[in-house]
Amino acid sequence: MTRMIYPGQTIGIIGGGQLGRMMALAAKEAGYKIAVLEPTMDSPCGQVADIRIVAPYNDESALEELAEVSDVITYEFENIDYEGLKRLTEIAHVPQGAELVRITQNRVTEKHAIVEAGCPVAPYIVANNYEELVNQIEQIGYPCIVKTARGGYDGKGQQLLSSTEDLPLAKKLLEHSQCVAEGFVPFVKEISVIVQRNGYGETYCLPVGENIHVHHILHETIVPARISPATYDKAIEAAEKIADYLQLIGTLAVEMFVLEDGQIVINELAPRPHNSGHYSIEACNVSQFVQHIRAVCGWPLRKPKLWAPSIMINLLGQHVVPLSNSISKYPDWSVHLYGKNEAKVNRKMGHVTIMTENVEETLKQIERSGIWSE
Ligand code: AMP
Repeated sequence: MTRMIYPGQTIGIIGGGQLGRMMALAAKEAGYKIAVLEPTMDSPCGQVADIRIVAPYNDESALEELAEVSDVITYEFENIDYEGLKRLTEIAHVPQGAELVRITQNRVTEKHAIVEAGCPVAPYIVANNYEELVNQIEQIGYPCIVKTARGGYDGKGQQLLSSTEDLPLAKKLLEHSQCVAEGFVPFVKEISVIVQRNGYGETYCLPVGENIHVHHILHETIVPARISPATYDKAIEAAEKIADYLQLIGTLAVEMFVLEDGQIVINELAPRPHNSGHYSIEACNVSQFVQHIRAVCGWPLRKPKLWAPSIMINLLGQHVVPLSNSISKYPDWSVHLYGKNEAKVNRKMGHVTIMTENVEETLKQIERSGIWSE
């Protein structure tokens, strides 16, 4: 599976969003050409790509076309049609394979893999219908969270149940999909580790990020996470174990909860660069995107080093105008916008990274700026 892809050759990316765009920009730094498959014409990645194939992600002839023009293929999101990706592995060089997508597309197979890798998850049950949920729920008790096995993101497809009376609230989720119900984890912090591995088994983690969500959407990542050294080591060790178990090639984001006693519980996995790793573009000697390209192109990986503590804040639709009006006040902020033209409320439009020697003071400066007050 390991093959060296040389600068000048073409990297195909399935998905044209901001992750694809930042992968493409990293690849272009090293002289690669980019082909992107994306249903919309003017996508964040399409804007910086050399070749655009405008078609649905599971369109067979479009995938064949992508295979024809690409020397290696990667993807920027996990909800690709598994069968389509599997067929693609037979006609093109897809070093990440299709198995990782199959496993992480479904919370049931994902949790099973985490447990098999020897890492802790919240107690959970699997329900194929409402009756199965009702019959098993006592095994985990209340409060608990019912999540659709497939397709949920940013808190969508989830229902918190506080007591038996709430059970009917989960009916709707189970009408459409198999679900898992998991015990509510009384976490004190959420953290994530981006682990990256190449076909030779070289594995590195980026520094652990501390994630603050607002309305289920990532708002801020603080690096390094403000956790004890022992918890830090546990987080890295868990991410490496999972990467090893999955024989990862490419990138895996491992989201975790930190408990009051410093133990960790793994929440979920994303088999791609992750919003919580964007700080690495400025704050590390190797960004998650550069490392991802190195991994899929068969290059040796670089050992990540953090230049300075950092804060990454997402720019949603409602933050773009306030930020634009304030840019001149904050010369030290690195501003990223993804080229999306419609700034809808809660749509991820970009992010800001701030490297700082005084995280607490910078957090106050961010608050005082008023940009993120909505
Ligand atoms: P997810 O889509 O699984 O990442 O969940 C979105 C967010 O919901 C997480 O970032 C947590 O803030 C919260 N959450 C999810 N699962 C649990 C859980 N078992 N216990 C407590 N909070 C949770």
